[in-house]
Amino acid sequence: MGGAAIGLAVYLLNFGLATSLAALVSVFVLTRVLVYAYFERYLAFKVFDDFASGRVRHECVACGASCHLRVNLGKDDIERILKYAKEKGLEETVIEKSGSKFWLKRKSGGACVFLTYSGNLPRCSIYSIRPMACRLFPLIPQGSRLKVDPFCPGIRRDQGHTFKEHLVTQEVGSYVRRVTGKIQSAETASA
Ligand code: SF4
Repeated sequence: MGGAAIGLAVYLLNFGLATSLAALVSVFVLTRVLVYAYFERYLAFKVFDDFASGRVRHECVACGASCHLRVNLGKDDIERILKYAKEKGLEETVIEKSGSKFWLKRKSGGACVFLTYSGNLPRCSIYSIRPMACRLFPLIPQGSRLKVDPFCPGIRRDQGHTFKEHLVTQEVGSYVRRVTGKIQSAETASA
């Protein structure tokens, strides 16, 4: 909306159609870059720092939002889930490959293939063997760092699990330590 207004203003100032379009595209691209840089490169890591240091907590509000994200699978996840699918005689494809990575398949609306509902409440039908990415959430590994989904509505200042409790209840302490190699003290303190 703002980009369109600026483009129109430039056009009206007689810069011509080509210049106006170039200005519009530039504003659009710049806006996308700034939004990406702010949310993905700044806020997500800042929220992680706040979580790890105790400034914020996390309490799942069962909104199901994370079950609409792409879920990357590790080798252990794949073995466990394929074994489950075979035992249950599932005929639908539950894992897909993209490039060199494996992901949980999603339904046409974007929901995870294992997401079901109990009334209005989202429910994971493979909760006890859910992938590491689901255990970690709202933590998201990025290279040798971790970030936190800044849009997760379960991030709160005053209630919910502390970072240490999250590592214990989700049984992800050793994984987090392996990824970061930096926050051993948090895991050791909570063990
Ligand atoms: S495996 Fe379960 S927790 Fe993970 S995205 Fe699918 S439904 Fe959600």
